[in-house]
Amino acid sequence: MQIVLPYAGIVLLIGPSNSGKSTLLKRMIEKREILPSEVISSDDFRVLVSDIEFIDWRDRPKDEADSLLGDYQSISKEAFSMMDSVIDARCRLNKLTFVDATHLHPDDRKRYLSLARKNNVPIISIVMDIHEDELLIRDEQRDNPRGKRRIRQQYQTFKKEKRFIKKEGYMSVYTIKETDNLEFNRRSNPI
Ligand code: ATP
Repeated sequence: MQIVLPYAGIVLLIGPSNSGKSTLLKRMIEKREILPSEVISSDDFRVLVSDIEFIDWRDRPKDEADSLLGDYQSISKEAFSMMDSVIDARCRLNKLTFVDATHLHPDDRKRYLSLARKNNVPIISIVMDIHEDELLIRDEQRDNPRGKRRIRQQYQTFKKEKRFIKKEGYMSVYTIKETDNLEFNRRSNPI
């Protein structure tokens, strides 16, 4: 599959945890298809604002899980606020930015659609459509697992949301089931 990247604007990655968003972007950086500074990741910004790299959600009693969720939501709120300022600035400077977060909830996606419209830059989305069983297998194998319950919840949200994404107003939507045969064609000027 060939993916046409705009000269400037926003590339929104969309997909549950373990769908391979960060892995794809890392591979593109290694192949020098994109610059490290072109990737804005929610995981990185959570660390920047809170020093916390990872919360282990597995096997927690409900009250402990609820308290962790409260902490995580506060951290995420600050992280996304910082991220959005950086993305906004990059759009104003006509830079291209890959946003690495799940973007499963419509409000999260709408924020970037508005941001792109406000700055008069294109926005495209890359939707990582990976089967739930595969997401769960990858979770067991990764260093910082998100936990089965969370993956299943995210997958249900994704399944419900994916039909709406095409109509939300992106310049293009690429739905990816595997990342092996992707080819990126980057526009070299704004037209
Ligand atoms: P998160 O939203 O939790 O950050 P993510 O969608 O960015 O997740 P990655 O961090 O890229 O996912 O990958 C999560 C795990 O899945 C890693 O252990 C990674 O090695 C594995 N993984 C990613 N892509 C693939 C793939 N195409 N095939 C097999 N394993 C993969």
